[in-house]
Order: sequence, then structure tokens, then C-alpha cells
Amino acid sequence: QGLSSADHIELAQSRSAHNYSPLPVVIAEGRGAWVTDVEGKRYLDCLAGYSAMNFGHHNPDLLAAAHAQIDRVTLTSRAFYNDQFGPWVSSLADMVGKEKVLPMNTGAEAVETGIKVARKWGYEVKGVPENQATIVVAGANFHGRTTTIISFSSDPEAKTGFGPYTPGFRSVAYGDARAIEEAIDDTTVAVLIEPVQGEAGVIVPSADYLPRVREICDANRVLFIADEVQSGLGRTGTIRACEHTGVVPDAYLFGKALGGGILPVSAMVADEDVLGVIQPGQHGSTFGGNPLAGAVGQTVVRMLTEGPYLENARKLGEVLRRRLDAFVGDGVVSARSIGLWAGVDVDPALASGKELCKRLAEHGVLVKDTHGSTVRMSPPLVISEDDLNWGLDRFAEVIAELRA
Ligand code: PMP
Repeated sequence: QGLSSADHIELAQSRSAHNYSPLPVVIAEGRGAWVTDVEGKRYLDCLAGYSAMNFGHHNPDLLAAAHAQIDRVTLTSRAFYNDQFGPWVSSLADMVGKEKVLPMNTGAEAVETGIKVARKWGYEVKGVPENQATIVVAGANFHGRTTTIISFSSDPEAKTGFGPYTPGFRSVAYGDARAIEEAIDDTTVAVLIEPVQGEAGVIVPSADYLPRVREICDANRVLFIADEVQSGLGRTGTIRACEHTGVVPDAYLFGKALGGGILPVSAMVADEDVLGVIQPGQHGSTFGGNPLAGAVGQTVVRMLTEGPYLENARKLGEVLRRRLDAFVGDGVVSARSIGLWAGVDVDPALASGKELCKRLAEHGVLVKDTHGSTVRMSPPLVISEDDLNWGLDRFAEVIAELRA
């Protein structure tokens, strides 16, 4: 091909919809926590595909599983069984202590699945009349980009001009359990929340929030659906972010790292009393549960339960926390983290989040802004302590430059 980074950017800008505003970095290869651009410049990947690349780039175990399956059979549709499906769904359900799995592809599809299942459950089990179901959600949420999901977004950018919206959602402030209680009535079928809000800037709720939500859901016979698409599968140092407070929701939604960074794989995982409401013909996807997803998915489960990933996330999460705490005050207004996942609020007088990301990329570190002057970091869970420290040194360097 012989195209330069500038050529690639020009081509992408002129021939693709402008639905993102990427940093001017054209990635051509990845290994572990590092990626390389077209000209051979290396960057430490501290975004990891919004946690889709938890196991790092070019992970040998995942590649071996994918290669082996590609040589056998890749897609069958659910019109038939395939020999990877049963072993995958059973291992995934067992890993999180649930009975059943409904496999899809993207995170948004898993959320749509959660909404549909909750409504059907409300109709068939709780007796909520058809068309009356309500679901309580949290403000500043991010659950995806479909028409129904943006209907309960509080981000005007995600919403404006895309109406009419899907009715049936009530939004209350994140972290406020009492507001959830007040929003629930006889029509309420579910509470849908992120155990840690990712896109909002890695917002970790107080320790009593999720346990209170659990109690409220139990008292009102409402399903507690945890969107663990970004928080789950090792990011916080545990398989489920809900584990930190010992909470067991009625359903988990997983995505991103569920496909090992190889292909899009998502799922709703719950017990039979919930997922049993879905019968043939009522919900599905041509690609959901395909043999390649099953082969990669079994490897993901094995890696999470046997591999060093959780331990590394916990250990280096402490390093990350210590160093971020030390940053606060010198151009950094506040920082919070859980596992290898951090939100850093930079002094808005110094730089916007976007400007900071651009500067960091020039120094060889890739992160992503969320809103205002907040950036989030979510490096692959395979990152070494030296590399993490190197990335944080670059962060300190950029802040110092901005303050000079
Ligand atoms: N839920 C959460 C919590 C997310 O962070 C995201 C993606 N950032 C999604 C759902 C949507 O996932 P996808 O982009 O794969 O549709």
C-alpha cells in the first residue's frame, strides 16, 4: 500500500462518516500493551479499546484458539448447534454463578437484550400489562447507541435530533439509591445500572449503593440488571465489578473483553427464572453464539479463572492509585480508580481532555477523554509495572509542560 499516516487520515476523513473524532494516530500493529503506527512509532495503549483489549494485543492464547477454530468452522447461525456453543455458555454461566446465557455480539445488543428480557419478564411473571413496563436507569449512563438506548441517555449529543424516543425509562441520579426507590412503582420491571460508570469518567459509587439497590429491587420485585460491559472481566481486578461490594444482580450484561479483542461478543447472563421467558423466535442474532465466538469465549473464561490477569490488575491497580494520588494538586484536580481503571480530572485552565490526549499521544501514550477536562485510563491487564510507570511519567511530563 505504502500510505503514510497522513494519507490514511485523509482517506478516512474523506470517505467515512464523521461519527468519531479520532486522535491523529494510525495504528498498524499491536503487541501486549503497545501499538505501533504506520511510520513505526510506538505508543503505550492506555485505553485498550475501552476495555475490549483487556488481555493485550496479539495475545498468544487467544490467537491460538482463534486460529484453530478458523481452520475448522467459523459460522453456522443458530439454526443448528455447533460444538463450541454448549461448552462456552456453560463455562461463562458457571464463571459468574448463573444458570444461563443469551449470546449476542455488541455491548449495545446485550443491553437491548436486557431491556427486552426484563419487559417480557414483567409481562409474563410480574403481570405488568403489555406496553406499560418501566425501567429505572441512572443519569450520565452509557449503555450504547441504539435508538432505544439513547432514549434514556442524559447526553444531549447522543440524543438530539434522533427522536422519537422509546418510552418506558425513568432516569435518576447515579449513586442515589433513595431516588431509585422513589422512581419504582407497580409498572417497574428492572433497574439497569453500571456498577462503575465508565464513559461518565470512571465513577465508583459509595460502597453501600449497590447493596441498597439490591435490597430495593428485592423489596419491590424488580430485576437488578448490571451492565458490566466495560467494568466486567478483570478491569477492576475482579471478574465482576459487583464483587467489590458482594452484590449479586439478577442479570449481568457482558461485552468488550468477552470477545478477547478478536471479535465482537456479548451476552446476557442470568438464571432460568429470568432468561426462561424468551422462547424461539422472540430474540436473537445471526452471529450470536457463533463457533469462533465460542472458541475464543472459552479461552477468555479460562484466562480469567486461571491466568494472572486479575492479580496483575489488582497489583498494578495499587501502583496506579498511589501515583494518581500523588498527581492531585499539581494541575490535576482529582483522580479516582478501581483496579486498572482510572478517571483523572485535569485543571480545565491547563487543557481540555482532548488537548491532553493529543499531547500524551505525542509523548507516546494513548488515553481517551470523556467530557470536559477528564481523561480515563484503562491499560491492558497485561501491562508491566515498568510500562505503567513509564506511561504515568509521561503523564506527569505533559502536565508539567502545560503548567510551565
Ligand atoms: N455498556 C457500557 C457500560 C459501555 O461502556 C458500552 C461501550 N462503551 C456499551 C454498553 C456499548 O457497547 P458497544 O459499543 O459494544 O455497543
